[in-house]
Amino acid sequence: MGAGPAGYTAAALASKAGMNVVLFEQDAIGGTCLNVGCIPTKTLLYSAKQYHNACHAGKYGVTATDVQFDFQKIQQRKTKIIRKLAAGIKSQVKDCTLVPFAANVTAYSENQITLEANGETYGAERLLICTGSQNFVPPIPGIENNPAVWNSTDALAAKELPASIAIVGGGVIGMEFATLYMELGIQVTVVEAMPDILPNIDSEVRTLLREKYQKQGVQFLCSTKVQAIEGNRIIYQTADNQPGELEADRILVAVGRRANLQGIDALPIEIERGAIKVNEFMQTNLQNVYAAGDVTGKILLAHVASRQAEVAVGRMLKQVPLQRIAYNAIPSVVYTNPEIAVVGLSEADLQGKDCVLPIECDIHRLPMTFSGRFVAENEGETGLCKVVVDRKNQTILGVQMIGNPCSEFVAAASFAVRMGYTLPEFRQVVFPHPTVSEILRETVIG
Ligand code: NAD
Repeated sequence: MGAGPAGYTAAALASKAGMNVVLFEQDAIGGTCLNVGCIPTKTLLYSAKQYHNACHAGKYGVTATDVQFDFQKIQQRKTKIIRKLAAGIKSQVKDCTLVPFAANVTAYSENQITLEANGETYGAERLLICTGSQNFVPPIPGIENNPAVWNSTDALAAKELPASIAIVGGGVIGMEFATLYMELGIQVTVVEAMPDILPNIDSEVRTLLREKYQKQGVQFLCSTKVQAIEGNRIIYQTADNQPGELEADRILVAVGRRANLQGIDALPIEIERGAIKVNEFMQTNLQNVYAAGDVTGKILLAHVASRQAEVAVGRMLKQVPLQRIAYNAIPSVVYTNPEIAVVGLSEADLQGKDCVLPIECDIHRLPMTFSGRFVAENEGETGLCKVVVDRKNQTILGVQMIGNPCSEFVAAASFAVRMGYTLPEFRQVVFPHPTVSEILRETVIG
């Protein structure tokens, strides 16, 4: 059920292994990631970056006059890219039966699951639930049926840009859209309930981003709770109970996502904290029912979903040795400008009041300007790379970075964390020169 990154990855693998696969998708193939998530946002962000870079080309000795953008063309390109990638996914699942309707489980027994879709009945020995997640609508008065309020899907579909935007939620979605609108020259205000934006990112890293965006005109209202929305006005309260109001042409609400649990009412399946409970092999409490992706509520990222799908299919095939997911080495990227890329444990996880694992650690840190390539290509930027190391056994536990294009080489850091590399081992890895990736090595050399 569901043809997002979890569903289509599993379907392709299972059919390749000889299983008879039916893949149900009520909407568009590719799921949130391809249609209203990762890919469309990155496409729009790339156009915005091109425009922004052209506007600031002077610092590289290039004169660009009369720089303009055409939002309709930007949107058309986004649609073209989604179509192209959807065709690629369809070819991966060409040996599966694709049912373009919502599936509902109608009966369950230990060796047979019955589903219904568009009036047809389907029987299966195994079920993999990959129904994903949807935007969470917080219980804020005035949010529902308000044409001034957008979620990320509305923002991606908009034919025209807003004159100004207030973004409720300074998390990953909030900051990526803040980047898009800021780079296209639109006034942005971010309203965040926590004391800072990107609460799950290393504090030094997020401070560098916030300060840069503030210099570029983005306003941040942190420790601020939205009380109500009236038309295009946000009524809020600050942490010290000061009331305030803010007006914007559009209000984008991005305060998290929730698992999609429709279509499985007939299953006596265990739900934990609003998501399907799974074990390390993506099995639910029910014999032969598996779940993968956002619906499991683990880490809501497409690359986690596809890896979970691999593990689930491996378990169905009884592969030996059984695969597991290394949740300690999942990279995560925030596509701001500069980009943020992290993997593993951070300083805050190991020290201080939010500490989850009290390990004595050393923090190696270096500005990205220690990379020649970074200096050549990032005029006026400093960036930062932090490597977290277990003091006792010298194992690399995590890496946090800000600076372009760290999303492209965080995989090297993931590899080190996944394989449990120690510093002496990691220092022996040769990085190509001149690349920004060298910063990883530089940070731990001294
Ligand atoms: P999030 O959890 O990253 O951020 C939500 C933010 O909203 C948090 O900072 C939270 O403190 C704040 N918040 C919550 N309630 C609020 C309120 N009433 N007023 C003001 N602020 C409030 O969630 P998201 O940004 O909506 O993203 C959803 C999911 O999608 C996340 O799990 C994210 O990892 C994933 N995602 C990932 C990427 C990426 O990997 N680049 C991009 C987009 C989304």
